Amino acid sequence: MAYDSNNIFAKILRGEIPCTKVFENEHVFAFNDIAPKAPVHVLIIPKGAYVSFADFSAKATAEEIVALNRAVGEIAREKGIDVTGYRLLANHAEHARQDVPHYHVHLLGGVDLGPCF
Ligand code: AMP
Repeated sequence: MAYDSNNIFAKILRGEIPCTKVFENEHVFAFNDIAPKAPVHVLIIPKGAYVSFADFSAKATAEEIVALNRAVGEIAREKGIDVTGYRLLANHAEHARQDVPHYHVHLLGGVDLGPCF
């Protein structure tokens, strides 16, 4: 699947759509989910144009991959959920019902999230 530069997260990255920013560095941007499923629900995205985890894991540089993973851990610590616990989720394509075609990691926490499956 080719990257669609008109997807909503690309527009957020370009500042064309507002968001509640949580974190930013050279490679990573993070903001609150507009329809949170938990008290903490942050979306962590690479600034690079990657459709999903499949695309990111195959094509991103090592620097980008490390930056994204480090950002997830840092945001969790900043949100104070590293001790209580959190769940990470990344949907890829149709069977996972990925809605927005720009790679993103959901960081969920701040409450007992219940069983995953
Ligand atoms: P996914 O199904 O993994 O692609 O999840 C997409 C997520 O993006 C959903 O949890 C939406 O609530 C969230 N979302 C959609 N539009 C926005 C927006 N403008 N700002 C913040 N989050 C959004």
